[in-house]
Amino acid sequence: MNRRNYNVSELRRLDVAHHLPAQSSYRLQQQMGGSRIITRAEGSTVWDAEGNAILDGMAGLWCVDIGYGRAELADVAREQMLELPYYNSFFRTATAPAVELAAKLASLHGGALQHIFFNTSGSESNDTVLRLVRYYWALKGQPERSIIISRHNAYHGSTVAGASLGGMSFMHVQGGLPIPGIEHIMQPYHFGDGFGEDPEEFALRAADALEERILAIGADKVAAFIGEPVQGAGGVIIPHRAYWQRIEAICRKYGVLIVSDEVICGFGRLGRWFGYQHFGFTPDIVSMAKGLSSGYLPISATAVSHEIVETLRATDDDFVHGYTYSGHPVAAAVALRNIEIMEREALVDRVADDAGPHFAEAIGALADHPLVGEVRTLGLIGAIELVAEKGTNRRHGKGGAAGPVVRDACIARGLMVRAIRDTIVMCPPFVITHEEIDRMAAIIRAALDEAV
Ligand code: PLP
Repeated sequence: MNRRNYNVSELRRLDVAHHLPAQSSYRLQQQMGGSRIITRAEGSTVWDAEGNAILDGMAGLWCVDIGYGRAELADVAREQMLELPYYNSFFRTATAPAVELAAKLASLHGGALQHIFFNTSGSESNDTVLRLVRYYWALKGQPERSIIISRHNAYHGSTVAGASLGGMSFMHVQGGLPIPGIEHIMQPYHFGDGFGEDPEEFALRAADALEERILAIGADKVAAFIGEPVQGAGGVIIPHRAYWQRIEAICRKYGVLIVSDEVICGFGRLGRWFGYQHFGFTPDIVSMAKGLSSGYLPISATAVSHEIVETLRATDDDFVHGYTYSGHPVAAAVALRNIEIMEREALVDRVADDAGPHFAEAIGALADHPLVGEVRTLGLIGAIELVAEKGTNRRHGKGGAAGPVVRDACIARGLMVRAIRDTIVMCPPFVITHEEIDRMAAIIRAALDEAV
């Protein structure tokens, strides 16, 4: 039951009249007569204003890891608001929750990354990355080391820096991006770009593209490489293990900093606290958001190595970067409690040893469907590739794309998944039950059957 009474038709009318939803077609919003109004959630389920239940196979936007309806987080937010709702001066002050959260994050990262800069979103964290790495190299007396290498089809956010670091060409078209000094290399997308090739050889070829680009640019001009351990918004692209180890070796060889964008992979999504721990490499900088607070309040964090901070400490100059809401005490208190819940309920282990394997089995069983070319999962993230011809990676092509058709059929049956072109992606909350995972798989199968 909703706590409030909602006038759905009036809300939808106001939505069209006044509300521009993020990353949306405003023509379609108008044609649909307004957005679907989501009013309530519990566990892994959300309800709309009309009372329809939707199993949330996406954890909101890849973020509600501990599930919905945690009263404990509301309590902690209320207590912190009454104690100190906000404070920042940009002049030698801090708040207790921000300091405590920084220490907690440093401990989760173990030895290498001991220093934390706070922001409000994943995009902002990557803005911080861009300014920080260039400032670092300038302080080291190498200001010409300013180029950042990323990958085609990467997603690093939607601010000017975030979208420029990202490699989505359709995002670059709007706004004349990327900004100068950012280059993109191939992604390690075996199904799309290396079909039929030995997976390890393909992964090494994709990683070696980094070395080729560094040499083409000149190693003394390259500041950093940035990548998501598993590309999320690009279509849940899970690289072969060999990929990141080769990337790390190349970066170390040329003194290039490694930035791990853990906005989706962090906080247990892959079955370890951080994606770099799963793939076995050591980054110099890590971006975190989403699972940091399970989306209950906006907060993000940028973890930085001791070596970089030692360099920043070699000057009295300010790092002239930061946000009004950096280290927001209420968001920090909620993030701390979110992490405490993850630890208390051993949710990262649950992803690795219980829900994750069950998800792999249930979703993996869809590989036999005539429309399915490949199923990939790791922890609680997964992708289903839809193909026009079984045994190939041939797509349905523009206009005949199957992804949106299957997605819409899932939503109509009460399951939220996302279609990235012809790839169906899933990213459920860590608390999803086995029964709910089985229901996800059954709904997707029914939607695939309908689409054949
Ligand atoms: N980086 C990655 C890997 C992401 O997946 C996202 C968002 O999906 C971002 C950065 C941007 O985060 P935000 O939307 O909080 O700005």
